[in-house]
Amino acid sequence: MSIRLNEDAEVVRLIREGLEKKGGYCPCRFERKEEYKCICEEFKAQMADPAFEGYCHCMLYYKSKD
Ligand code: SF4
Repeated sequence: MSIRLNEDAEVVRLIREGLEKKGGYCPCRFERKEEYKCICEEFKAQMADPAFEGYCHCMLYYKSKD
């Protein structure tokens, strides 16, 4: 399993800017809940799921199975 940033530097820049504005909470979600603090609970679960491969909700990170 490996995690990398989105290959598009502009996406990374925009999401990081959004994270900064929201104090570390997911910029793609409306509410500032603990579970939405980056790295959010959803992506943590996806990282732990051996069957999952793909981007996190915001597309900042990409998880590969191998
Ligand atoms: S891991 Fe991705 S979806 Fe989750 S909070 Fe961070 S940027 Fe948003």
